[in-house]
Amino acid sequence: MTQLDPSALSDLTEGDLPPETDVDLVHVPADADTSAGSHDTSMDAIVELCKRRGLIFQSSEIYGGLRGAWDYGPLGAALKDNVKDAWKRDMLQLRGDVVQLDAAILMHPRVWEASGHVEGFTDPLTECRTCNARFREDQAVQGDAKTYECPRSDYSLCDFGPARQFNLMFQTHVGPTEESGSKVWMRPETAQAMFVDFAHVQLTSRQKVPFGIAQVGKSFRNEITPRNFIFRVREFEQMEMEFFVRPGADEQWHEYWIGQRWDWYIRLGMRRENLRIRDHAADELSHYAKHTVDVEYRFPFAWSELEGIANRTDFDLNRHAEYSGKDLSYYDGERDERYVPYVVEPAAGVDRAALAFLVDAYRVEEAPSAKGGTDRRVLLKLHHRLAPTKAAILPLSRNDKLVPTAREVADLLRRRWTVQYDDAGSIGKRYRRQDEVGTPFCVTVDFQTVEEDRAVTIRDRDEMTQERVSIDRLVEYLDDHLDLD
Ligand code: ATP
Repeated sequence: MTQLDPSALSDLTEGDLPPETDVDLVHVPADADTSAGSHDTSMDAIVELCKRRGLIFQSSEIYGGLRGAWDYGPLGAALKDNVKDAWKRDMLQLRGDVVQLDAAILMHPRVWEASGHVEGFTDPLTECRTCNARFREDQAVQGDAKTYECPRSDYSLCDFGPARQFNLMFQTHVGPTEESGSKVWMRPETAQAMFVDFAHVQLTSRQKVPFGIAQVGKSFRNEITPRNFIFRVREFEQMEMEFFVRPGADEQWHEYWIGQRWDWYIRLGMRRENLRIRDHAADELSHYAKHTVDVEYRFPFAWSELEGIANRTDFDLNRHAEYSGKDLSYYDGERDERYVPYVVEPAAGVDRAALAFLVDAYRVEEAPSAKGGTDRRVLLKLHHRLAPTKAAILPLSRNDKLVPTAREVADLLRRRWTVQYDDAGSIGKRYRRQDEVGTPFCVTVDFQTVEEDRAVTIRDRDEMTQERVSIDRLVEYLDDHLDLD
Protein backbone atom coordinates (compact mmCIF):
# COMPACT_ATOMS: atom_id res chain seq x y z
CA MET A 1 0.00 0.00 0.00
CA THR A 2 1.20 3.51 -0.75
CA GLN A 3 2.02 5.41 2.41
CA LEU A 4 0.51 8.85 2.14
CA ASP A 5 1.29 11.98 4.00
CA PRO A 6 -1.84 14.06 4.69
CA SER A 7 0.22 17.25 4.85
CA ALA A 8 1.25 16.68 1.22
CA LEU A 9 -2.33 17.01 0.03
CA SER A 10 -3.48 20.13 -1.80
CA ASP A 11 -5.50 22.69 0.13
CA LEU A 12 -9.01 22.07 1.34
CA THR A 13 -11.82 23.59 -0.67
CA GLU A 14 -15.42 24.30 0.26
CA GLY A 15 -16.56 20.90 -1.04
CA ASP A 16 -14.34 19.12 1.49
CA LEU A 17 -15.98 20.83 4.44
CA PRO A 18 -19.36 20.56 6.17
CA PRO A 19 -22.09 23.13 5.65
CA GLU A 20 -22.28 25.91 8.24
CA THR A 21 -24.64 24.99 11.06
CA ASP A 22 -25.57 26.71 14.24
CA VAL A 23 -26.62 24.26 16.94
CA ASP A 24 -26.94 25.49 20.48
CA LEU A 25 -25.74 22.59 22.61
CA VAL A 26 -24.57 22.05 26.17
CA HIS A 27 -20.91 21.08 26.42
CA VAL A 28 -19.37 19.86 29.69
CA PRO A 29 -15.77 18.93 30.56
CA ALA A 30 -14.55 15.34 30.87
CA ASP A 31 -14.73 15.35 34.66
CA ALA A 32 -18.27 16.76 34.93
CA ASP A 33 -20.33 15.44 37.85
CA THR A 34 -22.32 12.38 36.78
CA SER A 35 -24.90 12.48 39.56
CA ALA A 36 -28.44 12.68 38.17
CA GLY A 37 -29.66 14.74 41.13
CA SER A 38 -33.26 14.29 42.15
CA HIS A 39 -35.12 12.69 39.28
CA ASP A 40 -38.91 12.71 38.74
CA THR A 41 -38.85 9.22 37.29
CA SER A 42 -37.51 6.04 38.84
CA MET A 43 -36.11 3.14 36.85
CA ASP A 44 -38.49 0.87 38.77
CA ALA A 45 -41.47 2.79 37.39
CA ILE A 46 -40.17 2.40 33.82
CA VAL A 47 -39.35 -1.30 34.22
CA GLU A 48 -42.75 -1.95 35.79
CA LEU A 49 -44.64 -0.12 33.04
CA CYS A 50 -42.66 -1.89 30.31
CA LYS A 51 -43.41 -5.26 31.84
CA ARG A 52 -47.09 -4.59 32.58
CA ARG A 53 -47.81 -3.34 29.07
CA GLY A 54 -45.62 -5.91 27.41
CA LEU A 55 -43.17 -3.45 25.87
CA ILE A 56 -39.96 -4.99 27.24
CA PHE A 57 -39.48 -7.92 29.58
CA GLN A 58 -36.88 -10.47 30.60
CA SER A 59 -35.66 -12.92 27.98
CA SER A 60 -36.57 -16.58 28.64
CA GLU A 61 -38.76 -15.44 31.53
CA ILE A 62 -40.51 -18.80 32.00
CA TYR A 63 -37.10 -20.38 32.63
CA GLY A 64 -36.12 -17.77 35.17
CA GLY A 65 -34.64 -15.31 32.66
CA LEU A 66 -31.15 -14.77 31.28
CA ARG A 67 -29.09 -11.89 32.65
CA GLY A 68 -28.30 -9.11 30.22
CA ALA A 69 -30.92 -10.20 27.66
CA TRP A 70 -34.35 -8.62 27.14
CA ASP A 71 -37.28 -9.25 24.81
CA TYR A 72 -39.25 -6.49 23.14
CA GLY A 73 -42.95 -7.32 22.98
CA PRO A 74 -45.33 -5.95 20.31
CA LEU A 75 -45.27 -2.31 21.40
CA GLY A 76 -41.61 -2.35 22.42
CA ALA A 77 -40.59 -3.78 19.06
CA ALA A 78 -42.60 -1.02 17.36
CA LEU A 79 -40.91 1.64 19.53
CA LYS A 80 -37.48 0.24 18.67
CA ASP A 81 -38.37 0.16 14.95
CA ASN A 82 -39.47 3.77 15.19
CA VAL A 83 -36.15 4.80 16.78
CA LYS A 84 -34.25 3.03 14.00
CA ASP A 85 -36.51 4.46 11.29
CA ALA A 86 -36.07 7.98 12.66
CA TRP A 87 -32.30 7.51 12.62
CA LYS A 88 -32.26 6.08 9.10
CA ARG A 89 -34.52 8.84 7.85
CA ASP A 90 -32.12 11.46 9.21
CA MET A 91 -28.94 9.68 8.19
CA LEU A 92 -29.96 8.29 4.83
CA GLN A 93 -33.23 9.49 3.38
CA LEU A 94 -32.85 13.21 4.10
CA ARG A 95 -29.22 13.28 2.92
CA GLY A 96 -27.63 12.26 -0.33
CA ASP A 97 -24.19 11.60 1.06
CA VAL A 98 -24.67 8.55 3.28
CA VAL A 99 -25.36 5.02 2.03
CA GLN A 100 -26.54 1.96 3.90
CA LEU A 101 -24.82 -1.34 4.61
CA ASP A 102 -26.22 -4.51 6.14
CA ALA A 103 -23.18 -6.68 6.80
CA ALA A 104 -22.92 -10.15 8.32
CA ILE A 105 -22.58 -10.39 12.09
CA LEU A 106 -19.93 -13.09 11.71
CA MET A 107 -16.79 -11.75 10.07
CA HIS A 108 -13.36 -13.13 9.24
CA PRO A 109 -11.41 -13.46 12.52
CA ARG A 110 -8.56 -11.32 11.17
CA VAL A 111 -10.96 -8.34 11.20
CA TRP A 112 -10.87 -8.31 15.00
CA GLU A 113 -7.11 -8.72 15.11
CA ALA A 114 -6.67 -5.74 12.79
CA SER A 115 -9.18 -3.59 14.68
CA GLY A 116 -7.43 -4.19 18.00
CA HIS A 117 -10.40 -5.97 19.61
CA VAL A 118 -8.65 -9.33 20.15
CA GLU A 119 -5.89 -7.67 22.06
CA GLY A 120 -7.58 -4.75 23.68
CA PHE A 121 -11.39 -5.03 23.91
CA THR A 122 -11.25 -5.87 27.58
CA ASP A 123 -12.58 -4.79 30.94
CA PRO A 124 -10.79 -5.39 34.26
CA LEU A 125 -12.46 -8.30 36.05
CA THR A 126 -12.14 -8.83 39.77
CA GLU A 127 -13.50 -11.62 41.92
CA CYS A 128 -14.41 -11.69 45.61
CA ARG A 129 -12.24 -14.24 47.45
CA THR A 130 -15.09 -15.06 49.81
CA CYS A 131 -18.31 -15.20 47.77
CA ASN A 132 -16.71 -15.59 44.29
CA ALA A 133 -18.95 -12.91 42.79
CA ARG A 134 -17.35 -11.19 39.78
CA PHE A 135 -17.36 -7.48 39.08
CA ARG A 136 -15.92 -4.94 36.71
CA GLU A 137 -13.14 -3.55 38.84
CA ASP A 138 -13.75 0.11 38.01
CA GLN A 139 -17.36 -0.28 39.14
CA ALA A 140 -16.63 -2.36 42.24
CA VAL A 141 -13.74 -0.33 43.60
CA GLN A 142 -13.92 3.43 43.62
CA GLY A 143 -10.66 5.00 44.72
CA ASP A 144 -9.69 2.73 47.61
CA ALA A 145 -13.28 2.06 48.59
CA LYS A 146 -14.80 -1.34 47.88
CA THR A 147 -18.46 -0.86 47.28
CA TYR A 148 -20.16 -4.26 47.37
CA GLU A 149 -21.54 -6.02 50.42
CA CYS A 150 -20.41 -9.60 50.61
CA PRO A 151 -23.19 -12.04 51.45
CA ARG A 152 -20.75 -14.60 52.92
CA SER A 153 -18.16 -12.51 54.64
CA ASP A 154 -18.02 -11.79 58.38
CA TYR A 155 -16.81 -8.38 57.31
CA SER A 156 -19.45 -6.51 55.40
CA LEU A 157 -17.58 -5.88 52.14
CA CYS A 158 -16.30 -8.09 49.34
CA ASP A 159 -12.62 -8.98 49.43
CA PHE A 160 -11.51 -8.43 45.84
CA GLY A 161 -8.50 -10.20 44.37
CA PRO A 162 -6.25 -8.62 41.73
CA ALA A 163 -8.03 -7.69 38.49
CA ARG A 164 -7.34 -9.50 35.21
CA GLN A 165 -8.28 -8.31 31.75
CA PHE A 166 -11.41 -10.02 30.42
CA ASN A 167 -12.19 -9.88 26.68
CA LEU A 168 -15.79 -8.87 26.05
CA MET A 169 -16.17 -10.59 22.68
CA PHE A 170 -18.32 -13.71 22.49
CA GLN A 171 -16.52 -16.54 20.77
CA THR A 172 -18.11 -19.25 18.71
CA HIS A 173 -17.17 -21.71 15.96
CA VAL A 174 -18.23 -22.04 12.35
CA GLY A 175 -18.74 -25.53 10.98
CA PRO A 176 -19.05 -28.87 12.74
CA THR A 177 -15.71 -28.98 14.59
CA GLU A 178 -14.61 -26.77 17.41
CA GLU A 179 -10.98 -26.54 16.40
CA SER A 180 -8.97 -23.35 16.63
CA GLY A 181 -9.13 -22.75 12.87
CA SER A 182 -12.93 -22.45 13.00
CA LYS A 183 -13.04 -19.85 15.77
CA VAL A 184 -15.03 -16.67 15.05
CA TRP A 185 -16.41 -13.83 17.13
CA MET A 186 -19.86 -12.31 17.37
CA ARG A 187 -19.28 -8.70 16.35
CA PRO A 188 -19.01 -6.35 19.34
CA GLU A 189 -19.75 -3.32 17.12
CA THR A 190 -21.12 -2.79 13.64
CA ALA A 191 -18.42 -0.29 12.65
CA GLN A 192 -15.72 -2.62 11.35
CA ALA A 193 -17.77 -3.80 8.37
CA MET A 194 -17.93 -0.23 7.11
CA PHE A 195 -14.11 -0.10 7.03
CA VAL A 196 -13.64 -3.58 5.62
CA ASP A 197 -16.22 -2.91 2.86
CA PHE A 198 -15.17 0.70 2.30
CA ALA A 199 -13.60 0.29 -1.14
CA HIS A 200 -16.40 -1.92 -2.47
CA VAL A 201 -19.19 0.33 -1.26
CA GLN A 202 -17.45 3.52 -2.40
CA LEU A 203 -16.85 2.15 -5.87
CA THR A 204 -20.30 0.64 -6.44
CA SER A 205 -22.29 3.50 -4.88
CA ARG A 206 -20.10 6.00 -6.78
CA GLN A 207 -19.95 8.26 -3.73
CA LYS A 208 -17.19 10.82 -3.51
CA VAL A 209 -15.43 11.81 -0.27
CA PRO A 210 -16.91 13.30 1.91
CA PHE A 211 -19.52 10.58 2.29
CA GLY A 212 -20.70 8.08 4.88
CA ILE A 213 -21.69 4.44 5.29
CA ALA A 214 -24.36 3.67 7.87
CA GLN A 215 -25.47 0.45 9.45
CA VAL A 216 -28.06 -0.61 12.00
CA GLY A 217 -27.74 -4.03 13.55
CA LYS A 218 -27.10 -6.31 16.47
CA SER A 219 -23.85 -6.33 18.42
CA PHE A 220 -22.79 -8.57 21.27
CA ARG A 221 -20.63 -7.89 24.32
CA ASN A 222 -20.08 -10.24 27.18
CA GLU A 223 -20.49 -7.46 29.73
CA ILE A 224 -19.25 -8.44 33.19
CA THR A 225 -22.09 -6.66 34.95
CA PRO A 226 -25.11 -6.02 32.74
CA ARG A 227 -27.42 -3.63 34.57
CA ASN A 228 -29.92 -0.82 34.54
CA PHE A 229 -32.54 -2.62 32.46
CA ILE A 230 -31.75 -2.20 28.74
CA PHE A 231 -28.94 0.31 29.37
CA ARG A 232 -26.15 -2.26 29.56
CA VAL A 233 -26.96 -5.62 28.03
CA ARG A 234 -25.07 -8.42 26.33
CA GLU A 235 -27.02 -8.38 23.08
CA PHE A 236 -28.04 -4.98 21.72
CA GLU A 237 -28.52 -2.97 18.58
CA GLN A 238 -26.35 -0.17 17.32
CA MET A 239 -26.86 2.61 14.80
CA GLU A 240 -23.42 3.55 13.54
CA MET A 241 -22.21 5.71 10.71
CA GLU A 242 -18.66 6.09 9.42
CA PHE A 243 -18.19 9.39 7.61
CA PHE A 244 -15.11 9.46 5.36
CA VAL A 245 -13.47 12.85 4.90
CA ARG A 246 -10.35 14.42 3.46
CA PRO A 247 -7.54 14.55 6.05
CA GLY A 248 -7.49 18.05 7.49
CA ALA A 249 -11.28 18.41 7.26
CA ASP A 250 -11.86 15.88 10.07
CA GLU A 251 -12.12 18.33 12.97
CA GLN A 252 -14.75 20.47 11.26
CA TRP A 253 -16.75 17.33 10.37
CA HIS A 254 -16.45 16.10 13.94
CA GLU A 255 -17.97 19.36 15.19
CA TYR A 256 -20.65 19.17 12.52
CA TRP A 257 -21.73 15.64 13.46
CA ILE A 258 -21.84 16.50 17.17
CA GLY A 259 -24.34 19.23 16.28
CA GLN A 260 -26.37 16.97 13.97
CA ARG A 261 -26.68 14.21 16.52
CA TRP A 262 -27.60 16.61 19.35
CA ASP A 263 -30.27 18.05 17.10
CA TRP A 264 -31.71 14.60 16.30
CA TYR A 265 -32.49 13.87 19.96
CA ILE A 266 -33.95 17.33 20.49
CA ARG A 267 -36.13 17.12 17.38
CA LEU A 268 -37.49 13.81 18.68
CA GLY A 269 -38.67 15.61 21.77
CA MET A 270 -35.90 14.92 24.27
CA ARG A 271 -35.78 17.59 26.96
CA ARG A 272 -32.75 19.79 26.54
CA GLU A 273 -31.97 19.88 30.25
CA ASN A 274 -31.50 16.09 30.17
CA LEU A 275 -28.92 16.08 27.41
CA ARG A 276 -25.27 17.15 27.34
CA ILE A 277 -22.08 16.68 25.35
CA ARG A 278 -19.10 15.49 27.39
CA ASP A 279 -15.52 15.50 26.15
CA HIS A 280 -13.39 12.42 26.69
CA ALA A 281 -10.29 12.96 28.80
CA ALA A 282 -6.98 12.04 27.15
CA ASP A 283 -6.68 8.84 29.24
CA GLU A 284 -10.25 7.83 28.33
CA LEU A 285 -9.73 7.97 24.55
CA SER A 286 -9.82 4.68 22.64
CA HIS A 287 -6.59 3.63 20.92
CA TYR A 288 -7.97 4.72 17.52
CA ALA A 289 -9.39 8.11 18.47
CA LYS A 290 -7.99 11.60 18.21
CA HIS A 291 -10.98 13.27 19.85
CA THR A 292 -14.21 11.79 21.21
CA VAL A 293 -17.29 13.18 22.87
CA ASP A 294 -20.20 11.35 24.42
CA VAL A 295 -23.77 12.47 24.09
CA GLU A 296 -24.99 11.88 27.62
CA TYR A 297 -28.51 11.59 28.98
CA ARG A 298 -29.61 12.21 32.54
CA PHE A 299 -30.87 8.70 33.34
CA PRO A 300 -32.42 8.24 36.81
CA PHE A 301 -29.24 6.43 37.96
CA ALA A 302 -26.66 8.92 36.56
CA TRP A 303 -25.65 11.01 33.58
CA SER A 304 -24.54 8.25 31.17
CA GLU A 305 -23.51 7.73 27.57
CA LEU A 306 -26.17 7.52 24.89
CA GLU A 307 -23.85 7.80 21.96
CA GLY A 308 -20.15 8.32 21.23
CA ILE A 309 -18.93 10.61 18.46
CA ALA A 310 -15.30 9.92 17.61
CA ASN A 311 -12.68 11.24 15.25
CA ARG A 312 -11.14 7.86 14.36
CA THR A 313 -8.55 9.35 11.98
CA ASP A 314 -7.27 6.92 9.31
CA PHE A 315 -6.49 4.27 11.92
CA ASP A 316 -9.02 1.64 10.87
CA LEU A 317 -8.55 1.87 7.11
CA ASN A 318 -4.77 1.71 7.53
CA ARG A 319 -5.00 -1.29 9.84
CA HIS A 320 -7.29 -3.24 7.53
CA ALA A 321 -5.13 -2.35 4.55
CA GLU A 322 -2.10 -3.63 6.44
CA TYR A 323 -3.72 -6.86 7.66
CA SER A 324 -5.52 -7.71 4.40
CA GLY A 325 -2.84 -6.50 2.02
CA LYS A 326 -5.55 -4.65 0.04
CA ASP A 327 -5.45 -1.00 -0.92
CA LEU A 328 -8.10 0.95 1.00
CA SER A 329 -7.08 4.40 -0.16
CA TYR A 330 -9.35 6.75 -2.09
CA TYR A 331 -8.60 8.27 -5.45
CA ASP A 332 -9.77 11.85 -5.92
CA GLY A 333 -10.12 12.05 -9.71
CA GLU A 334 -10.64 15.80 -9.86
CA ARG A 335 -7.38 16.52 -8.06
CA ASP A 336 -5.56 13.40 -9.24
CA GLU A 337 -4.65 12.62 -5.65
CA ARG A 338 -4.79 9.44 -3.63
CA TYR A 339 -5.16 9.35 0.15
CA VAL A 340 -6.56 7.34 3.06
CA PRO A 341 -9.65 9.18 4.32
CA TYR A 342 -10.12 10.19 7.94
CA VAL A 343 -13.27 8.95 9.63
CA VAL A 344 -15.79 10.62 11.93
CA GLU A 345 -18.11 8.18 13.66
CA PRO A 346 -21.39 8.85 15.44
CA ALA A 347 -22.13 5.52 17.21
CA ALA A 348 -25.45 5.23 19.01
CA GLY A 349 -27.26 2.41 20.79
CA VAL A 350 -30.86 1.65 19.84
CA ASP A 351 -31.73 0.17 23.23
CA ARG A 352 -30.17 3.05 25.15
CA ALA A 353 -31.92 5.60 22.97
CA ALA A 354 -35.24 3.78 23.46
CA LEU A 355 -34.68 3.80 27.24
CA ALA A 356 -33.83 7.50 27.25
CA PHE A 357 -36.91 8.35 25.18
CA LEU A 358 -39.07 6.29 27.57
CA VAL A 359 -37.64 7.99 30.66
CA ASP A 360 -37.97 11.41 29.07
CA ALA A 361 -41.57 10.83 28.03
CA TYR A 362 -42.78 9.36 31.33
CA ARG A 363 -45.18 11.58 33.26
CA VAL A 364 -47.56 11.10 36.15
CA GLU A 365 -50.41 13.63 36.17
CA GLU A 366 -53.64 14.31 37.94
CA ALA A 367 -56.68 13.87 35.71
CA PRO A 368 -60.42 14.06 36.30
CA SER A 369 -61.89 10.68 37.21
CA ALA A 370 -65.16 9.25 35.84
CA LYS A 371 -66.75 9.81 39.27
CA GLY A 372 -66.00 13.52 39.26
CA GLY A 373 -62.92 13.37 41.51
CA THR A 374 -59.28 13.25 40.48
CA ASP A 375 -57.32 10.28 39.27
CA ARG A 376 -53.66 9.55 38.69
CA ARG A 377 -52.81 9.19 35.06
CA VAL A 378 -49.55 7.76 33.73
CA LEU A 379 -48.61 9.11 30.38
CA LEU A 380 -45.86 8.47 27.85
CA LYS A 381 -45.51 11.78 26.09
CA LEU A 382 -43.56 10.26 23.20
CA HIS A 383 -42.94 12.16 20.01
CA HIS A 384 -45.56 11.02 17.48
CA ARG A 385 -42.80 9.51 15.36
CA LEU A 386 -41.75 7.24 18.20
CA ALA A 387 -45.21 6.29 19.46
CA PRO A 388 -45.72 2.55 18.82
CA THR A 389 -49.39 3.11 17.90
CA LYS A 390 -50.52 6.33 16.24
CA ALA A 391 -54.24 6.00 16.94
CA ALA A 392 -56.54 3.70 18.92
CA ILE A 393 -60.05 3.02 17.64
CA LEU A 394 -62.46 2.51 20.50
CA PRO A 395 -66.15 1.70 20.09
CA LEU A 396 -67.97 3.05 23.14
CA SER A 397 -69.10 -0.50 23.89
CA ARG A 398 -69.20 -3.88 22.23
CA ASN A 399 -72.74 -3.16 20.99
CA ASP A 400 -73.47 -4.78 17.60
CA LYS A 401 -74.46 -1.41 16.22
CA LEU A 402 -71.06 0.14 16.95
CA VAL A 403 -68.56 -2.61 16.23
CA PRO A 404 -68.89 -2.74 12.39
CA THR A 405 -68.39 1.03 12.04
CA ALA A 406 -65.48 1.01 14.48
CA ARG A 407 -63.85 -1.81 12.52
CA GLU A 408 -64.45 0.09 9.29
CA VAL A 409 -62.69 3.14 10.79
CA ALA A 410 -59.78 0.97 11.97
CA ASP A 411 -59.39 -0.53 8.49
CA LEU A 412 -59.49 2.93 6.94
CA LEU A 413 -56.67 4.20 9.17
CA ARG A 414 -54.61 1.00 9.13
CA ARG A 415 -53.68 1.64 5.51
CA ARG A 416 -51.75 4.74 6.56
CA TRP A 417 -50.68 4.25 10.18
CA THR A 418 -50.16 1.66 12.88
CA VAL A 419 -53.42 1.63 14.78
CA GLN A 420 -55.02 -0.51 17.46
CA TYR A 421 -58.63 -1.60 17.76
CA ASP A 422 -59.77 -2.07 21.35
CA ASP A 423 -63.28 -2.73 22.59
CA ALA A 424 -62.54 -4.30 26.00
CA GLY A 425 -63.36 -2.51 29.26
CA SER A 426 -64.68 0.90 30.17
CA ILE A 427 -63.79 3.78 27.88
CA GLY A 428 -61.94 5.54 30.74
CA LYS A 429 -59.73 2.51 31.31
CA ARG A 430 -59.04 2.20 27.60
CA TYR A 431 -57.95 5.86 27.44
CA ARG A 432 -55.58 5.26 30.37
CA ARG A 433 -54.15 2.17 28.69
CA GLN A 434 -53.41 4.14 25.51
CA ASP A 435 -51.95 7.05 27.50
CA GLU A 436 -49.56 4.66 29.19
CA VAL A 437 -48.16 3.43 25.90
CA GLY A 438 -48.02 6.87 24.31
CA THR A 439 -50.78 6.63 21.67
CA PRO A 440 -51.27 10.23 20.43
CA PHE A 441 -54.96 9.94 19.45
CA CYS A 442 -57.97 7.90 20.54
CA VAL A 443 -60.86 7.72 18.09
CA THR A 444 -64.19 6.87 19.71
CA VAL A 445 -67.20 5.52 17.83
CA ASP A 446 -70.50 6.08 19.68
CA PHE A 447 -74.23 5.86 19.00
CA GLN A 448 -74.31 9.34 17.54
CA THR A 449 -71.75 8.13 14.97
CA VAL A 450 -73.98 5.37 13.65
CA GLU A 451 -77.37 6.94 14.23
CA GLU A 452 -76.81 10.58 13.37
CA ASP A 453 -73.67 12.11 11.97
CA ARG A 454 -71.04 9.54 10.90
CA ALA A 455 -68.57 11.52 12.99
CA VAL A 456 -66.18 10.28 15.68
CA THR A 457 -64.65 11.84 18.80
CA ILE A 458 -60.91 12.34 18.69
CA ARG A 459 -59.12 12.65 22.01
CA ASP A 460 -55.66 14.17 22.22
CA ARG A 461 -53.24 12.28 24.51
CA ASP A 462 -51.44 15.30 25.94
CA GLU A 463 -54.22 17.86 26.35
CA MET A 464 -57.08 15.36 26.79
CA THR A 465 -59.17 17.68 24.60
CA GLN A 466 -61.86 16.11 22.42
CA GLU A 467 -63.01 17.05 18.95
CA ARG A 468 -65.79 15.75 16.76
CA VAL A 469 -64.63 14.92 13.22
CA SER A 470 -66.58 13.30 10.40
CA ILE A 471 -65.29 9.91 9.23
CA ASP A 472 -64.88 11.36 5.73
CA ARG A 473 -62.39 13.90 7.09
CA LEU A 474 -60.63 11.60 9.54
CA VAL A 475 -57.59 10.73 7.41
CA GLU A 476 -57.05 14.37 6.56
CA TYR A 477 -57.40 15.33 10.24
CA LEU A 478 -54.80 12.84 11.40
CA ASP A 479 -52.52 13.79 8.52
CA ASP A 480 -52.63 17.38 9.78
CA HIS A 481 -52.26 16.56 13.45
CA LEU A 482 -49.73 13.73 13.51
CA ASP A 483 -46.23 15.15 13.61
CA LEU A 484 -44.30 12.58 11.63
CA ASP A 485 -41.63 14.84 10.13
P1 ATP B 1 -19.87 1.99 27.59
O1 ATP B 1 -18.74 2.91 27.96
O2 ATP B 1 -21.20 2.39 28.17
O3 ATP B 1 -19.55 0.54 27.77
P2 ATP B 1 -18.90 2.22 24.94
O4 ATP B 1 -18.23 3.56 24.99
O5 ATP B 1 -18.06 1.00 25.02
O6 ATP B 1 -20.08 2.17 26.02
P3 ATP B 1 -19.34 2.30 22.15
O7 ATP B 1 -18.37 1.24 21.84
O8 ATP B 1 -18.99 3.72 21.86
O9 ATP B 1 -19.81 2.17 23.65
O10 ATP B 1 -20.72 1.92 21.45
C1 ATP B 1 -21.59 2.88 20.90
C2 ATP B 1 -22.95 2.83 21.56
O11 ATP B 1 -23.46 1.49 21.62
C3 ATP B 1 -22.96 3.28 23.02
O12 ATP B 1 -23.00 4.68 23.11
C4 ATP B 1 -24.24 2.65 23.53
O13 ATP B 1 -25.37 3.43 23.18
C5 ATP B 1 -24.29 1.34 22.76
N1 ATP B 1 -23.80 0.27 23.62
C6 ATP B 1 -22.52 -0.11 23.83
N2 ATP B 1 -22.44 -1.13 24.69
C7 ATP B 1 -23.71 -1.42 25.05
C8 ATP B 1 -24.31 -2.39 25.92
N3 ATP B 1 -23.58 -3.29 26.56
N4 ATP B 1 -25.65 -2.38 26.04
C9 ATP B 1 -26.41 -1.49 25.37
N5 ATP B 1 -25.92 -0.57 24.54
C10 ATP B 1 -24.59 -0.52 24.37
